[in-house]
Amino acid sequence: MAEGILVVLDQENGRVRRVAYEMLSRAQEIAAGTVTALTFGPGAETLAETLGRYGADQVVALTGDAFTRYSSDGWAEAVRQVVEVIDPVALFFPATAWGKDLSPRVAGLLEAGLATDCTEIHPSEGGRLEAVRPVYAGKAFQRVRIDTPRQLFSLRPNIQPVIEHGRPGQLRPVTVSVSPDQFQAVVTAVENNAGGTVELTEADIIVSGGRGIKAPENFKILEGLAEVLGAALGSSRPVADEGWVPHSYHIGQTGKVVSPTVYFAVGISGAIQHLAGISGSKYIVAINSDPDAPIFKAANYGIVGDLFQVVPHLTEEIRRL
Ligand code: FAD
Repeated sequence: MAEGILVVLDQENGRVRRVAYEMLSRAQEIAAGTVTALTFGPGAETLAETLGRYGADQVVALTGDAFTRYSSDGWAEAVRQVVEVIDPVALFFPATAWGKDLSPRVAGLLEAGLATDCTEIHPSEGGRLEAVRPVYAGKAFQRVRIDTPRQLFSLRPNIQPVIEHGRPGQLRPVTVSVSPDQFQAVVTAVENNAGGTVELTEADIIVSGGRGIKAPENFKILEGLAEVLGAALGSSRPVADEGWVPHSYHIGQTGKVVSPTVYFAVGISGAIQHLAGISGSKYIVAINSDPDAPIFKAANYGIVGDLFQVVPHLTEEIRRL
């Protein structure tokens, strides 16, 4: 009988994203049965001990030629084969760009239901799970139960706490039969537009600029504030559409969904499509010259003023701390 949770992790050269520890921690708390971490690519084997500390009872590490470059169809088939061996009742994926690409393909292959971008996940009746996920651009929350034999969930990063369980994970050898020659799509290169700054979806503090910054060269004012705070940089959609910043900065309904501890919205009006991407923030600090800007309704702290005066002052004050 199916039991336990398979947590599917994105890793690069032996480094996993924080969301991996968040998913494992939650899985260990609620799983009736074994928690298995599934990793891909070179260096994955060395992760077993660390993943164990955060909740993985066992680790399946898929290595070899097929797992050096991401292939959505190829890796989805590999996950399907691992599921046949491990036989979990539920699968967790990160609600990152990678997880959003892979999870629906796996759901299709398994003919299983998938609840995406979940902010909560709880045990429910009959050993099944129940998730909570935002809908209508974050205006409402939906409780979801999946009634297919296997239940798939993608979990929004930066929401679940990371808990150390203190047990070493065991490597569990599983062989899958997939060949790169049969893959229909393979990632050939990854460009890091953000220039090595902190990844937005994992950032604890974000400084984000809107059309109020008026010109691309003015973004350096925000870069100064981000630097003293150790923050990642983000933007509203028009700022990215104008080409003032890379598209990877774009936050909102059609961009990245972020959940930092502090989100600075600078010169951003607070349109519903932008708020959809930031509603998971613990504190929102708005800086806007218009006291009636909708962002102030969503903000915990607001500064009504000209960003070209407020931001440099704030940066200097924080630098002095
Ligand atoms: P504006 O609305 O123009 O606001 C600029 C703000 O700057 C104003 O509040 C102004 O008071 C303030 N300001 C001006 N000068 C100063 C100054 N000197 N000092 C301080 N404040 C100043 N938008 C997103 O952001 N993300 C999305 O994912 C997204 N998806 C969308 C999807 C759809 C289908 C649609 C239709 C729209 C979407 N949008 C999205 C666009 C969204 O509706 C808004 O148009 C956009 O968020 C506005 O961006 P903004 O706040 O930067 O600009």
